[in-house]
Amino acid sequence: MREPVLVPRLQPFTSTIFAEMTALAARTDAVNLGQGFPDTDGPAGMLAAARDALFGGANQYPPGPGRPELRAAIARHRTRYGTHYDPDIEILVTAGATEAIAASLLALTQQGDEVIVIEPYYDSYAAAVAMAGASRRVVSLTADGDRFALDADALRAAVTPATRAILVNSPHNPTGTVFTRSELTVIAEVCIENDLIAITDEVYEHLVFDDSEHVPLASLPGMRSRTVTISSAGKTFNCTGWKIGWVCAVPELVSAVKAAKQFLTFVSGGPLQPAIAHALEHELTWVEQLRTALAAKRDRLSQGLREAGFTVWPSAGTYFVCADVRPLGFTNAAELAWQLPERVGVAAVPVNVFTDHPEEWNHVLRFAFCKRDEVLDEAIERLHRLASVGPSGVDHTRTG
Ligand code: PMP
Ligand code: GLN
Repeated sequence: MREPVLVPRLQPFTSTIFAEMTALAARTDAVNLGQGFPDTDGPAGMLAAARDALFGGANQYPPGPGRPELRAAIARHRTRYGTHYDPDIEILVTAGATEAIAASLLALTQQGDEVIVIEPYYDSYAAAVAMAGASRRVVSLTADGDRFALDADALRAAVTPATRAILVNSPHNPTGTVFTRSELTVIAEVCIENDLIAITDEVYEHLVFDDSEHVPLASLPGMRSRTVTISSAGKTFNCTGWKIGWVCAVPELVSAVKAAKQFLTFVSGGPLQPAIAHALEHELTWVEQLRTALAAKRDRLSQGLREAGFTVWPSAGTYFVCADVRPLGFTNAAELAWQLPERVGVAAVPVNVFTDHPEEWNHVLRFAFCKRDEVLDEAIERLHRLASVGPSGVDHTRTG
């Protein structure tokens, strides 16, 4: 066989950090705060609706755009932000947000186009841009006080005549930043001034804490017609394995995305679609409780990490909190992340794998707090050992 087998544009993407860290955590029996998935189930009513659909015959291909009751529920759900979509022509159900992102890039960008991504960026963005044959231009979030913020000048400077689209993720994985209305306004201005398409990843839309507010970019003046809004059920209803996502946009954009999507999976999750329709219509009180519980978990883990010696950035949303490893004497968080499961029995994810500037982000680890309290407590207890083990790997409390 001709070597290499994998085409060059996909060679940087052979495995995901989440799969690798989860495998390492399993091998070492570590507490897995690496991959972001909850360890409890979603609302019982949603699970019952899925069971009923499974035993009620909903086991063949759903319609290409998604089951009508799910599209109607998605449309109603978006009205909470003041945005209105026609469920028949402006909504497309996808295999998770991941497929929605890939299909959008495949349909809307091509070789010669540039796509702006904001770093650190969710890992699938770079791979999906590469699959489309386009190239990415990266704008780094910058520290603004104790928050990671959008640098408006850097964003403006990243636009070239080849720029076709910008990918915007808020609430932001991995930093927990929730873009403010003024940051979103800058993005909207840049899109309108340069005739760009915005592709928004809003999978953590319900997981915002304290006084933060999720504002969809499409709800800003002039943006509905040029924004592909993407979300999914996994994070909102604790069902990351179901992979039910969706796209909301004007008919031309939805039709374009559908052209790509229909040849990726065509459809998926037949009996799960009515269950998510049920959840969107009837389980938002449950989601509100989830949000409150997650805010407390964020506080629990952040406090524990501080007590273990890390400096911790505030997280305004998502499942994640970022921590600086330097106060513990470490300089290389990526190296530490690979050793952490073996050394102290906890898995985390190095943030620099989500960037094009690994050296600038090499002091940051991402920890997931979407876990039961006893799991978080066990992780914190184990992480306390890090201060005594230190960068040399020698446990002074044991050898002394
Ligand atoms: N975007 C972000 C920012 C994510 O964290 C994730 C991971 N859940 C996804 C997209 C993928 O979502 P889905 O599982 O619905 O494909
Ligand atoms: N979104 C999850 C995270 O950021 C992981 C999803 C995946 O494993 N692809 O941890």
